[in-house]
Amino acid sequence: MPLDLVVIPCLSDNYTYLLHDPDGGATAVIDVPDAAPVEAALANRGWTLTDILITHHHHDHVGGVEALRKATGARVTGAAADDHRLPQLDHAVVPGDVITLGSETAEILDAPGHTVGHIAYYFSASGILCTGDSLMALGCGRLFEGTAEQMWGTLSRFAALPGETRVCSGHEYTQANARFALSVEPENADLQARSRDIDAARAAGRPTVPATIAEELATNPFLRASIPSVKRALQMAGAPDSDVFAQIRRMKDAF
Ligand code: ZN
Ligand code: FE
Repeated sequence: MPLDLVVIPCLSDNYTYLLHDPDGGATAVIDVPDAAPVEAALANRGWTLTDILITHHHHDHVGGVEALRKATGARVTGAAADDHRLPQLDHAVVPGDVITLGSETAEILDAPGHTVGHIAYYFSASGILCTGDSLMALGCGRLFEGTAEQMWGTLSRFAALPGETRVCSGHEYTQANARFALSVEPENADLQARSRDIDAARAAGRPTVPATIAEELATNPFLRASIPSVKRALQMAGAPDSDVFAQIRRMKDAF
């Protein structure tokens, strides 16, 4: 049975996710902006938290980890490279490692760009990719530590995953991302349609996550830096993909 996936809004615009193995009962949370909403979601469903999986060290992703560990005794997993600036880890992992959640496994994917130690968790059997602040719905994280080349490499690895993969990202920035995306590709019909869906979801108070890799490939300008029509629109025909990505990231920063 595939993992159950629960989206939990936290703080002003963060998301965390519960992944629950219906066979064995193991339950993981992806980042903990705040412990209270996670504990409430667990209690609602009668689930016991077994794992806390951290994508990166920023406070809005780890601020609730210690409280949740104390409350649940869950095992904390994060990047060995960021051991010095993460909450205390029970399991320090490196890209390529495989972790288990009940009857499922997740591969640790390197996801530098937003921060250099950023990792993602890929549950291939259930088709779930937990990206934190690397790939986001219609966007990507700002380059606080890594280079454009690193983030383009991260996004390219994700782009190669199956199209139906659900992308669980860390923030509800999607409406603003859509406005920017439309400024890059005003004629993209898939983007126009997705933008309308996003407005409807937000008006109804629904999250815009998770989205699929296929949706992102069709509409997310940061994943589309390699496409000739996007390069031409930026007067960058023939430029290297990562240079085009870097330009789109600069444009978004100034948008
Ligand atoms: Zn962050
Ligand atoms: Fe964040």
